[in-house]
Amino acid sequence: MYLEGKTAIITGAGRGFGRAVAQAMAGKGAQVVLFSRSEPDLDKVRGKIEASGGQVLVATGDVSAPDDVRRAVHRAIERFGGVDVLVNNAAVIGPARLIEDCDLAAWERTLAVNLTGAFVFCREVLPDMAAHRTGVIVNVTSGLGSRGYPRLAAYSASKAGLNQFTRSLAEEFKEYGVLAYGLDPGVMDTGMQADIRRLGRDRLGDEIYGRYHRLSSAGGLRQPSEVAKLACVLAAGVAPELSGSLVSMSEYQDLRLRISA
Ligand code: NAP
Repeated sequence: MYLEGKTAIITGAGRGFGRAVAQAMAGKGAQVVLFSRSEPDLDKVRGKIEASGGQVLVATGDVSAPDDVRRAVHRAIERFGGVDVLVNNAAVIGPARLIEDCDLAAWERTLAVNLTGAFVFCREVLPDMAAHRTGVIVNVTSGLGSRGYPRLAAYSASKAGLNQFTRSLAEEFKEYGVLAYGLDPGVMDTGMQADIRRLGRDRLGDEIYGRYHRLSSAGGLRQPSEVAKLACVLAAGVAPELSGSLVSMSEYQDLRLRISA
């Protein structure tokens, strides 16, 4: 129970990777704050965690709405006394279109959720973390943030921005004991991944369509619960030298060995 006594906010916690992270962190003893727009989804996750004896706060809202975020962080601090861990996980895939066909509103919405949402959440939790001189922020990024695929420019740009935001955050807050990581989960078996495959060959292009379909039919998609273990060891604060970096499952075993309980 190496996260005992810690409070973790997880955005996009109603399904997919966020749900798996919330359940895994609660399983390691953390008090978890579940944030997304869908209350029924969050209530189901809450039910499961509470049934296993965990402590949960549900906060509904949109990561791109500063008032929703402020309210959620305020409630978390009021209920649990502070925030030790923030997992910026909520994201949308955005428009799968060639740049010339990409609608401005869809572009802006993708950046607002995937990048600005993480900034807004960080801005709210950092004063508390800095005051306690401890904290871990995990920004869930993507391999697409470092590679150029056609038709996913908005999503890729948002994740590339998140990678750089993570580096800046780590530098700016290292003197306050706050660690920040980019977590690249690989290709996981979630609703988002199924939605991407359903976009079809025409909209995704041959390379990415073929890659995701091959992975899916060969059972090569990662289970979110496996990758959630990486989020847990990062939350334990055992890798200060990796703050500012992108971390993937290849680092998991080494980091796990640093934790005794
Ligand atoms: P998912 O199944 O689509 O879940 C996304 C979560 O984000 C949902 O809980 C959703 O809830 C929430 N969300 C979306 N927009 C939101 C908003 N504006 N405000 C608050 N919550 C919002 O996606 P996933 O596959 O688990 O992805 C999780 C993370 O992993 C994302 O950052 C994604 O980019 C990253 N990732 C995934 C893969 C993969 O293969 N799946 C690969 C690389 C990176 P509501 O819609 O109810 O708000």
